[in-house]
Amino acid sequence: MSSFESLIRSVPDFPKPGVVFRDITPLLADAGGFARCIDALAEPWQGSQVQAVCGIESRGFIFGAALAQKLHAGFVPLRKPGKLPPPLVEVDYQLEYGIDRLQARSDALKPGERTLIVDDVLATGGTLAAARELVGRLGAELVGASVLIELDALQGRTRWPGGLRLHSLLHY
Ligand code: 5GP
Repeated sequence: MSSFESLIRSVPDFPKPGVVFRDITPLLADAGGFARCIDALAEPWQGSQVQAVCGIESRGFIFGAALAQKLHAGFVPLRKPGKLPPPLVEVDYQLEYGIDRLQARSDALKPGERTLIVDDVLATGGTLAAARELVGRLGAELVGASVLIELDALQGRTRWPGGLRLHSLLHY
């Protein structure tokens, strides 16, 4: 077991019955565990010349910003609606019930900028797919994505292009 894996709390029946929520806040609160986690997230991308890290609101901001520092890259927040001023680029995506939207400043990434997407959890893959489309619309070059946790049973990876790198630190 990774030294930080024991710092992730599994909470049954949250936010609704039948769902096991992976709570990453105990990991964030542990200085050594959080640092080792960011080191491990950065390791596969050393030498990939990542220029920008896009973090998905909101837990993707925490891991993404720390990872950007580690990789000497800039950080770009991909945000939920109503948070960023215009001009914006946006992508809608389907949730289990309803629709959500990710937005970025229309000049947030430079053309061809080597970009990595970061989130905490890959579940059904809808959020990561929307982020990928958004980065594409911004004209950047996507080098891949990193998540802390991949929930294998939900098969989110099938919604990610096979030829593009998707790195998960932990699998549940
Ligand atoms: P997806 O779009 O892949 O179904 O869901 C991924 C998004 O839902 C991520 O942005 C992630 O933050 C959130 N998410 C889904 N399940 C969990 C979970 O068990 N724990 C945490 N921390 N986030 C989750």
